[in-house]
Amino acid sequence: MHTYTDVSAVMSRALAELCLERLAMHAPLDRSLTPDELSAAAGLTVTEKGIGTEEALRLWEHVLAPACLSVDHPRYLSFIPGAPTKAAAAFDMLVGASSVYGGTWLEGSGAVYAENQALRWIADLVGLPEGAGGVFVQGGTIGNLSALVSAREAARHKRLGPPPARWSVLVSDETHSSVKHSLQVVMDVGVVKVPGDERGRLTGAGIRARLAELPESEIDGIFAVVGTAGTTNAGVIDDLAGIAEVARERDLWFHIDGAYGGAGLAAPSVRPLFAGVEHADSFIVDPHKWLFAPYDCCALVYRDPVLARAAHTQKAGYLDPVTVEGEWNPSDFSVQLTRRARGLPFWFSLAVHGTAAYSEAVEQTLRVARAGQELIEAAEHVRLLVERDLSVLIFERIGWQAADYALWTARMLAAGVAFVTPTSHAGRPCTRFAIVNPETTVNDLALIIDSMK
Ligand SMILES: *Cc1c(COP(=O)(O)O)cnc(C)c1O
Repeated sequence: MHTYTDVSAVMSRALAELCLERLAMHAPLDRSLTPDELSAAAGLTVTEKGIGTEEALRLWEHVLAPACLSVDHPRYLSFIPGAPTKAAAAFDMLVGASSVYGGTWLEGSGAVYAENQALRWIADLVGLPEGAGGVFVQGGTIGNLSALVSAREAARHKRLGPPPARWSVLVSDETHSSVKHSLQVVMDVGVVKVPGDERGRLTGAGIRARLAELPESEIDGIFAVVGTAGTTNAGVIDDLAGIAEVARERDLWFHIDGAYGGAGLAAPSVRPLFAGVEHADSFIVDPHKWLFAPYDCCALVYRDPVLARAAHTQKAGYLDPVTVEGEWNPSDFSVQLTRRARGLPFWFSLAVHGTAAYSEAVEQTLRVARAGQELIEAAEHVRLLVERDLSVLIFERIGWQAADYALWTARMLAAGVAFVTPTSHAGRPCTRFAIVNPETTVNDLALIIDSMK
C-alpha cells in the first residue's frame, strides 16, 4: 500500500485523469439518493480483501459522485454555494499529495508563510493593523468559536474581582446559527439577543436600547458583541460602525462574522457598506464561499494575535519543543491542533491570478445580483422581501404557501435545472438566490423566476 508500484502508478494516473475531467467539465447538478437506492447501486464497498482500484473508481464516478450535488453548478443558488477557481481546485490535489503538517512553523514553515500572505490580504481588506494575523481553519463555525473563546479568555484575564454570574454575548436574530450554537452549547455562555432594525440589522442604537433594559448584574457578564457582515439569509450587513462605538465605550470584544459577506470587502462597489469593519477585534471570512476556494477553508484574523495565543496554545511535554517564542504556530490561534494547510489552495489561486482578478470576480457576481433584483422588481408574480446589500436576493412568489415552494424546489432539482431551496423571512415562507459563482448569468436567474409563474 505504501510502495509506489506499477499498480499505484496506474491508479494514480486514472485518478488524476478523473480530476482533470472534473476540472474541465460543466458538471451536472446531480441529486441525492436514498440510503436504499445507494445500497442497491453501490452495495458493500468495504470488504476484507478490498474491491480494487477499478471497481472503487467506477463506483465513485458512476454511482457516488452523481449522488452529490455539484455546488459549483451556476444554478445551484441555495444556502451559500461554492465556486472554486481551477487553480485553487487543482492545487488542492497537490496539498493532499504533499503530507504537509500545517499546525506549527517548525513542521510547515513554507506553507504557513504562504498562508500568512493570503491572511495579510484579508487583514488589509478589513483594515487591520500591521501585527494582525491568524489561521485558516475548517469553516466559519470553527472560526467563530475560536474567536469567541479568545474573547472570553481575554475578558477573564482583564477582569478584576470574582467572575460574573454568567458570561454572555450580544447577538441579533440574524446572527448565524453556528455562533449561537458555539456560545450556548459548546461554551455554555449566555446569548443576549438585540432586536434588529427594519432590515434586521444589528445597530449601535439597538444595542444601547437593549442594554438600557437589562439589570446591571446581567450587563456585567457581557464580554463581546458579534456583528455580521452579510447575513446568510438576506445578505445584509450590520451597522458595523455603530456597533464598534458601543464596543469601544463598554470595552467589549468586537467579533465580525463575514463568513459569506466578507468577500464583498474586495469589491469597491460595496466596500462602503462595511464602514466600521476596521474596528474588529477578530474577523472571519470563508474563502470556500465567495472567495472561490474548495471546501473547506475559513480565514480567521485577530487584531491582536497575542490574546488568541493566550487562549489557544496547548501545553504538553511533547509540544513544548515546537512552541518556540516568536515563531508563528497556526495551532495557537484556534481550537484545533493538527491542521491541513487548508489555506494553500486559496493562496495559490490568489498568487497566480492576483488580487485584482478576485475583486473583478466578486464584482461580476454583484452585477448579476443587481440585474436579478431588477428582474424580481419587474415581475408581477414575485416580490423582493429585503433590500439587497450584497449578492443574496430573498423574495416570495406571491400567493405561494410553504408546500408550493417545497414542490417547486423538488421539481427543479429532479429535472436538473436548478437548486433553489425554500427559506422563511419574518415568519413567511419564501426563497432566495445566493450568487457567488461568476458563471451564474442573468439568464439563469430569469429562467428560474419564470419557472415560478
Ligand atoms: C456559512 C456561515 C457560517 C458557518 O460557516 P461554515 O463554514 O459553514 O462552518 C457562519 N456565519 C455565516 C454568516 C455564514 O454564512
